[in-house]
Amino acid sequence: MDKAVFLDRDGVINRLELGKYVLSWPEFEFLKGAIEAIAEISGAGYKIIIITNQSPISRGLLTEEGLAVIHNNMLFEIEQGGGIIEEVFHCPHAPEDKCKCRKPETGLFNRVNEKYDIDYANSWFVGDFESDRQVAELVGLKFILAKGNGGLKEAAKQIITDC
Ligand SMILES: [Mg+2]
Ligand SMILES: [Zn+2]
Repeated sequence: MDKAVFLDRDGVINRLELGKYVLSWPEFEFLKGAIEAIAEISGAGYKIIIITNQSPISRGLLTEEGLAVIHNNMLFEIEQGGGIIEEVFHCPHAPEDKCKCRKPETGLFNRVNEKYDIDYANSWFVGDFESDRQVAELVGLKFILAKGNGGLKEAAKQIITDC
């Protein structure tokens, strides 16, 4: 089984402006320390998986292809910084779609479990919203609240001292 750190994206890895979506790569802005933090977590032997709600797809503001371009660029920058992200799982739905994969629903973790063998009790979820805390609790992950510049860096420190 693998130890993993699940990361929310918006507000944890990149800057989140409430009510605004990242619809293209130029609008994606890494938070301070995020790339280094990811490299540190990778270096400590954790698999890193991103779990993100992306309702702009359901709202018709962003296509799957558009999201893939953003994520390919993001993953490239993270790799340049020495970190590895195993995979990004996203929910494309909006709340009114009532899907089973939008956090705090746990559907994306079913997809994780099809591919990975995660030691949940020794793994973490880092997020900036209450829905992240709820999903962490539901699937049995330790939770760290992180938001804004430096937030993920602090979370990485906590994860690395704890292991
Ligand atoms: Mg978030
Ligand atoms: Zn969904």
